[in-house]
Formats: sequence, structure tokens, C-alpha cells
Amino acid sequence: MTAFTGAFWRSGDTGFAEAATSRIFNHRLPSRLPAAVLRAANPADVVAGVRMAAAEGWKVAVRSGGHSWAAWSLREDTLLIDLALFTGMSYDSLSGIVAVGPAVRGGLDLDPYLAEHDRFFAIGHAPTVGMGGFLLQGGLGWNCRGWGWAAESIESMEVVTASGELVPCSETENADLFWAMRGSGPGFFGVVTEFRLRTRPRFRELTRSTSIYPAELAPEVLTWYHAARHDVPTSVELAAVGCTPPGFDVPVLIIDAVSFDGGPSSLAPLGTCPVADEALVSKAAQPVKIGDLYAEQLRSNPDRHRYFVDNAFLAGTAADLVPALLPALTDLPTSKTFTVLGDFTPLMSRHRNRPDMALSVQTDLYFAAYVIGETPDEDAHCRTWLDATMERVAPYSAGCYLGDSDLDVRPDTIMSDAAWSKFQRIRAARDPDGRFPGYLGTPVQ
Ligand SMILES: Cc1cc2nc3c(=O)[nH]c(=O)nc-3n(C[C@H](O)[C@H](O)[C@H](O)COP(=O)(O)OP(=O)(O)OC[C@H]3O[C@@H](n4cnc5c(N)ncnc54)[C@H](O)[C@@H]3O)c2cc1C
Repeated sequence: MTAFTGAFWRSGDTGFAEAATSRIFNHRLPSRLPAAVLRAANPADVVAGVRMAAAEGWKVAVRSGGHSWAAWSLREDTLLIDLALFTGMSYDSLSGIVAVGPAVRGGLDLDPYLAEHDRFFAIGHAPTVGMGGFLLQGGLGWNCRGWGWAAESIESMEVVTASGELVPCSETENADLFWAMRGSGPGFFGVVTEFRLRTRPRFRELTRSTSIYPAELAPEVLTWYHAARHDVPTSVELAAVGCTPPGFDVPVLIIDAVSFDGGPSSLAPLGTCPVADEALVSKAAQPVKIGDLYAEQLRSNPDRHRYFVDNAFLAGTAADLVPALLPALTDLPTSKTFTVLGDFTPLMSRHRNRPDMALSVQTDLYFAAYVIGETPDEDAHCRTWLDATMERVAPYSAGCYLGDSDLDVRPDTIMSDAAWSKFQRIRAARDPDGRFPGYLGTPVQ
């Protein structure tokens, strides 16, 4: 019997079901369950867990923050290694690097900690998201549009490999694992026990412009947005959002822009919308606090709900995309559902120094749908709406972002052909016995 410092449950033990599922954010739980759960206390437990899984003939599943929409950490015939206790944070002011455990929550834990040091890291939008899954799939953090993917700012990490060794990974040590880890998300074949992240100076001023348009004006607004977004500076996070905000009975279209240190002038291009005068609400270049943005995210992504989520990186003219997107942004299946058409123009600039990493599919337009229901009897309606929405945008899609995907329901492209081949070669060399289960569903390559 392997001795762990942390807690261990086999299927059938008292507390097993709670240990297996209690930290999953999406309340639409799958029926999949692991064979056993290890709530590891330290890296030595993770090493022992991976070795025990090999001895028992199990695969290894991993959970950091439990926020994957599709509950990727629940896999049959696995030892689920739950990293809930890996919440350490330590900042080095000489290098500007912060070391974080994978279960650290971006907005609730890391951001307040870095604020004490006047630093910032582009964490996920909802403050509860775990750093582990977020960073592994690339990490679409605050102002990803201007600053790049969060995974680009990983300096190094500690990984327990499929053979049960704890090794450092960086551009210069175990560089193959480092390459694969940055973008392969739930397909990664190792357990990251610590990330070291390059932080940036903390922003001084956040400025926000928000215009709310009635759904009838969506064709004009989206056509304008499709062109105007290219003129918005890199300091600005920019999105068109379809939702039913508090105080509204029907869905509306919001053009939302938050500028990180760009000041009011960075938001000037947003004043050019030809139907700006007809906005229901218009707030131009107002100061805003990051805490208010986190609170808004918590309201938009309520706990204890049933989520259906999908996404696509889109390319096309306004004439192509606007008709395909209109129902997705203005005809929503539940009052809590929201959809986002985010701009990534600066991210795609050829002048940008983009590191070579597994994350390799992207365009300058990111569409994501977050369909939110409350009870199981809404599931069929939510599913049908999302399937139809994704079918309409599919002709213009270059692939998807793992973080908002569910490949089990809708297989899609997650890496370029070259990156996918490289990923398979590294995986075959590093995990020859298939100790890690790989993707749920099959990516289209
Ligand atoms: C409310 C909400 C808001 C979100 N907002 C954003 C956002 O703004 N930007 C964005 O990019 N994504 C966002 N997401 C998606 C989220 O980042 C991903 O689902 C991510 O996988 C969650 O990470 P986690 O550690 O919390 O999840 P988990 O479910 O614990 O992990 C997901 C999977 O990643 C792998 N994994 C996680 N940690 C490790 C590790 N340490 N070692 C090896 N493999 C590991 C495992 O396969 C695991 O099953 C959001 C999700 C929710 C629920």
C-alpha cells in the first residue's frame, strides 16, 4: 500500500464521491468517475500517485481549479490527482517572477498577492479559475488581445512526468515538455506541480467604454465593429457581447472596451459607430476598478448552474460573418446565457514576437458562447441552441480554443498540422504507455 501525506479514496470508500466531484464548477456533471482520488499534499505524493497508477493499471487524471467546462478531470479508470492543496505563492522582486501552485485562483488569490508587490499577471477573467488548467491550454487572460497568451509568460515549471519523475521544464530544460505544455491543455501528459510566471508592472489606470444597443441595431453595429476593431490600440481589451443584463427583459448587444493604462484617448475609435446616438446606454471612457470587473465576472458566471460552452476562431468578411453571428448574439436561449465576439487584432500582428508552443490555432476574431441553464429540463434546449449556433459559424472557423471547448460533443481543430505532429511525437516519447488519457473526444487534425 502506497503511503501518502495527503488523502486517498478508492471508489466505494466513504467520502469518495465528494472527493471526486465536489470541486467541479459546472453543475452539469458527467457520469464518468475515476477509480480512485488522491488529494496530494506535496510533489512527492504526486510522484507516488503516478507510480501507483502504473502499478494498478490506471491512467492519471488531474484537477487544479476544477473549472474546465467539460469536467475534464473526471475520467474513467483513472487515479484522479487533485492538486487542491497546491496553493503556494512566492514573489521574487529581483526577477519579477512569481511561483504559483496550480490550484491558485487567478483573481481571488494571485492578483491580490501581486497587488501587494505592485505587479500584475494576466489571469483568467473569472477570478475563481485555477491557474493550472488555464495556463496549460494557453490562457486567454485579461487583455490577451494586447499582451498575448498567459502561457507566453511562463518562465519555467516543475512537472511530474508519466514515468513518475519530478523534473524542471523551461526553454532550456526538458524543452519538449515545455513546448507541449503551453497549449495542449487536457491532452498534456504530466502533472505540473508549480509554475514560475513573469509578472508585469501593475497598471495605473483602467478606463472603460460600454455601449448597449438594441438587438435591431446589431447588423449595423457588428458591421462597424468588424472594421473599427483594427484601429483600437493594444492597451484595450475589446469585445462585442450578446447578453440580457440586469434591468433588461430581452437580449441586447454590448460593445465593451477596457483600456489598461491607455487612458481615455485609447478608446476614441469606439466613438465612430454610425448608430452611436441610438445606443440605449452609453458610458464613454469611465474609470473602473479591477475589483468591479471581477465582481461582474462572478455575476455573469454564476455558481451552481449548468453550462454548455463552445467557441471558434473566425475569419471572414463582415458580409459573411454578421448574418452567421446575428442569432448567436441577439437570440439567446436563456436569460443568463451570454456570447462574446472578442477582437485579437494585435495578437495576430506579424510584428509580434510569438513563442513557438503547442497553442498554434488562432485568428483575430474569437467567438465563444456560454449557455447557462439552471435545471436539467433546460438541457435539451440549451444543447440544440448551441449546436445550431456552432453549425452556422463553422464555415468561417479555423479551429477552437481548448479552454472553451468540449471536443467530446463537437470535435474541432486545436493545433496547426505541424504542431499536432510534433505534439504526437513528444507524447509518444514521453508517455509511451499512455499513462495520461489524452483528450476527451478526438481533435480534428
Ligand atoms: C467561470 C469560468 C470562467 C472562465 N474564464 C476563462 C478565461 O477568462 N480565460 C480562459 O482562458 N479560460 C477561462 N475559463 C476556462 C478555464 O480556464 C479552463 O476550463 C481551465 O481548464 C480551468 O482550469 P482549472 O485548473 O480550474 O480546471 P481543471 O478542471 O482543474 O483542469 C482542467 C484540466 O487541465 C489539466 N490540468 C489542470 N491542471 C493541471 C496540472 N497541474 N497538471 C497537468 N494537467 C493539468 C487536466 O487535464 C485537467 O483535467 C473559464 C472557466 C470558467 C468555469
